[in-house]
Amino acid sequence: MKIKCLCGNILNDETLKTTNPLMIFSEKDYYDVLESNPKTAEELVDKMPSGSIWECRVCGRLHYFKEGKLDIYKLEKEVFDNS
Ligand SMILES: [Zn+2]
Repeated sequence: MKIKCLCGNILNDETLKTTNPLMIFSEKDYYDVLESNPKTAEELVDKMPSGSIWECRVCGRLHYFKEGKLDIYKLEKEVFDNS
C-alpha cells in the first residue's frame, strides 16, 4: 500500500528510504500477551497486538492506521522543559 503525505512524499512500508514504519499497541494488550506466557519468540510475535504508524522521513508527520481509518499527526513545535 502507498499513501501520499501532505508534504508530497510517497509513503510505502516497503520503501524505508521514504517511510519509517513503527509498531504501536496499548500497554494492556502488550501485558495480556506477556501474561499468556508465550513459549517461543515465534509464538510471542504471532500473539503481538498489531497497530502501525508510518513516519514520513521528509516532514516527520505520523500516519496512524487506527481501526479502519487514518489519523495524521504533525509536531506543532518543539517543547523544552527548562525547569
Ligand atoms: Zn511528509
